[in-house]
Amino acid sequence: MSSSQYAPRLAPVNTASEADVVDLRSDTVTKPDAAMRAAMASAEVGDDVYGDDPTVNRLEAAAAAKFDKEAALFVSSGTQSNLVAMLAHCGRGEEVITGFGYHTFTYEAAGASVLGGIALHPIPPEADGGLDPDKIRTAVKPDDSHHPISRLLSLENTHYGKAIPLERIQAAVTAGREAGLMVHLDGARFFNAVTALKIEPAALAELFDTVSICLSKGLGSPAGSVLVGPADAIARARRWRKMLGGGLRQAGVLAAAGLQALEQNVAGLAEDHRRAEILATALREYGQAWDAPVAQATNMVFITPKTADHAPLRAHLNGRGLRLGGGEGSIRLVLHRDINDAKLDRAIDAFASFYKRNTLSA
Ligand SMILES: *Cc1c(COP(=O)(O)O)cnc(C)c1O
Repeated sequence: MSSSQYAPRLAPVNTASEADVVDLRSDTVTKPDAAMRAAMASAEVGDDVYGDDPTVNRLEAAAAAKFDKEAALFVSSGTQSNLVAMLAHCGRGEEVITGFGYHTFTYEAAGASVLGGIALHPIPPEADGGLDPDKIRTAVKPDDSHHPISRLLSLENTHYGKAIPLERIQAAVTAGREAGLMVHLDGARFFNAVTALKIEPAALAELFDTVSICLSKGLGSPAGSVLVGPADAIARARRWRKMLGGGLRQAGVLAAAGLQALEQNVAGLAEDHRRAEILATALREYGQAWDAPVAQATNMVFITPKTADHAPLRAHLNGRGLRLGGGEGSIRLVLHRDINDAKLDRAIDAFASFYKRNTLSA
């Protein structure tokens, strides 16, 4: 895998005014709306390092309750959440078994290895994004001084937008547990997964010791993630968060946004999924122009143009105010709260005009 989903952030973006921009790079681009800003402005705050911030405490209690876990920790990002979880579960010379291309392995700068002396053993995911139980069993090391000590299985849902079915997750978790591993879920887009799978949050969370959930993606918060799990693991994670410089003071202004995200914005994810499906359906039709397979999963649409050079397509779309994600091989379009039906239509029209231009000139 030579391309990175983050590479396009370096590409020039056009200079159209904000209202004209249809930013489909990621759901991380969502901005806090008026209700969220009002909640932030009126948040009661205190010094969270002293445990004194009532709004952070409320968010942590609400998250623990929602996922039916003993405790929760508010952290600054999903990367920090996964990192403190791995550090809480594993010591030096111990190992995390995870997926090749999963965020914990590919996109977190090997933080667990750098800071915790923890090894990462990646397994190639199956087509649905899940890990094969047999491959997990094979990856677990015997108790032998040659090997790292296998300690944690870290799964991901959604993975590249795919909501991995509960029974597939269950089978992987069982393989891990039978081998004596702890299990962690990188649920950056946890609510996209449970929305698509039509299950209760606790039904997915109950399979895991710890779960990390991003508040700053489709849920619209400006920053923050929560890690939920058993009280002892969360206490260790809290110590690691402080050591990493992640202890925030009057963090209630951010936690208020997080509460709003958790309590008010989950329902809207179904709209993002609906719009992603409309976009994918349109692109499958127009895609004949450049012979591009289109895959849609939860709030994401992936187009893989078969022509070697899809710069003309990107340039055409950029010129019409679209900002696109994806690396060299594919274009990733992410639907989110700041893409309404009018912006969706603009995106479809931009693709349609490329199709027509290319059909007429063919
Ligand atoms: C975004 C993401 C993260 C990390 O989130 P940041 O807040 O950007 O650090 C972790 N895992 C997955 C699967 C993600 O998509």
